[in-house]
Amino acid sequence: MSAAREPKLCIYPGCERLAVPPHPLGGPQPAFCDREDHNALTAHRERLRLAALAPPGHGDELTTQSGEWTGHSPDRPTIDSDTTEGDDG
Ligand SMILES: [Zn+2]
Repeated sequence: MSAAREPKLCIYPGCERLAVPPHPLGGPQPAFCDREDHNALTAHRERLRLAALAPPGHGDELTTQSGEWTGHSPDRPTIDSDTTEGDDG
């Protein structure tokens, strides 16, 4: 049974490269790939940039300011035009 660990991916936003393998002498595995521009600082900046690009109020679209409900038509009584009783004619 070989303790095969699943490969660790770079945590840089949008990066799908494998992270640098841990040092054979020990130590924690780096969380980023071997790209020099992928590190904690650039990843942090990238997250901020992506967050700035994202529309505000994401995931909170249920509340409307105008209070106008455009989901469906307002509740109307189901009146069928078939209430004419009596067939005197
Ligand atoms: Zn990367």
